[in-house]
Amino acid sequence: MTTTTDAAPGEETFDPRTPGEWAAFRTLAVRMVDDMLAHLAGLPQQPAWRPMPDAVRAALAAQPVPRAGVGAEAAYADFVAHVLPYPNGNLHPRFWGWVQGNGTPLGMMADMLAAGLNPHLAGFDHAPALVEQQVVDWMAELLGMPGASGVLVPGGTMASTIGLAVARHAHARAAGHDVREEGLQAWPDRAPRAPMVFYGSAETHGWARKAAELLGLGHRAFRRVPVDAEHRIDPRALRAMVAADRAAGLAPFCVVGTAGTVNTGATDDLPALADFCGEQGLWFHVDGAFGALAYLSDALRPQVAGMERADSLGFDLHKWGSLPFECACVLVRDPALHRDAFAASASYLAPMTRGVAAGGLPFADRGMDLTRGFKALKVWLSLRADGVDKLARLIEQNVAQTRHLVARIAAHEELELLAPAPLNVACFRYAPAGLPEPERDALNEELLLRLQERGIAVPSSTVVGGRFALRVANVNHRTRRADLDALVDAVLTLGAELARPAAALAGA
Ligand SMILES: *Cc1c(COP(=O)(O)O)cnc(C)c1O
Repeated sequence: MTTTTDAAPGEETFDPRTPGEWAAFRTLAVRMVDDMLAHLAGLPQQPAWRPMPDAVRAALAAQPVPRAGVGAEAAYADFVAHVLPYPNGNLHPRFWGWVQGNGTPLGMMADMLAAGLNPHLAGFDHAPALVEQQVVDWMAELLGMPGASGVLVPGGTMASTIGLAVARHAHARAAGHDVREEGLQAWPDRAPRAPMVFYGSAETHGWARKAAELLGLGHRAFRRVPVDAEHRIDPRALRAMVAADRAAGLAPFCVVGTAGTVNTGATDDLPALADFCGEQGLWFHVDGAFGALAYLSDALRPQVAGMERADSLGFDLHKWGSLPFECACVLVRDPALHRDAFAASASYLAPMTRGVAAGGLPFADRGMDLTRGFKALKVWLSLRADGVDKLARLIEQNVAQTRHLVARIAAHEELELLAPAPLNVACFRYAPAGLPEPERDALNEELLLRLQERGIAVPSSTVVGGRFALRVANVNHRTRRADLDALVDAVLTLGAELARPAAALAGA
């Protein structure tokens, strides 16, 4: 049976209708692809970042609610003029701010294909669902957790939040507490329960606080354990805190280990944490937002080893995996527990044994999202096209480049490395001998802003041991050593300029 194409008078669609309209749209679509590929190919000739001119802000702010459309051509022309030239720089070879991936041309095309096909990935019996399941299975095998359950999510924040939610559920269930039914409320017809608490180092990323709040545990339930000189969790302090909390009538349920901290790239002693969790009956969650992918490299795996012993593991594919935003994954060792923590049935979502709804909604049953897009396609196409080995080599390349940066920092007296740089993150500052300590923070902050505003490079900042640091987090597949050399040269030049107040004013 075919579908009729005859429209009744007044019936509309967002599709082009006539062959002529399709042809015109195709011309525009091809131009969009050409423009974007030209943008990517021309990146090295562009500044790392450019501040938005006031005229652009004004032009965007002036747009009223578009009651009547201007057509795709005109709307696209506005994108080219006002949006395309002013992204935040993360595509650029000299962008190392925060931990933002570059994306890839193939990933971009995969997102186009995914949006074009636009399948609904709550589950259902279709090829895209098989692709997502295969991607999850591949990642589980590659990261040492074969057979784990998993789901793709927008980011490391959601991945780790889901891990913590399963941990909360598992702990409550073992204690005879149906946390899905009762929540964490003090119902008058129930005996009072011990407050649940969990642990992570003081260097744990901010997701843990948000997750504690969202899951009803409260920020207070997240116990920040001190770190050692290498910015790794102090296992003795952890043991003492858990014992003290138990003695005070609290209910410890989970320890979060980090593979690659956001500040310095440190990795906790994961095997020790896994042992401790086993001994204490605690859930072991690993936040491997970027660091987990170091496991793909034979050379780097020892640094993050132990993460494969996690009960749940959250990691991003849009950081060191280089895929376009958004793409992350959570793996849970026990598939039944994972499902138990989230599966919900509704009459309008009942599984069928045949037809489109056969197989139920396995992905919706592993997290919060019901309607989900086809994020798996960019993972699947990219891994198929380039191979995991190439991804591992690029990760090794970033680590080698970071070691090169550290060596260059060490070679200059005016530069100071502020924390060990075991992986792909380096924190340093311009700190010439004559400059008093209190003035160093302000100088480095101004130096950072000039690096960014002049389009030279985009590191970001952090505070290490109370000191303002320039922070380079290198998950950039476009970076060359020469780019890092250019950064060091610019830091030395700008630093010297700023350390001489009169010259600094002239250069501002
Ligand atoms: C980036 C990051 C997160 C958060 O991941 P998003 O993808 O930004 O949500 C969590 N933990 C660490 C260590 C990170 O670097």
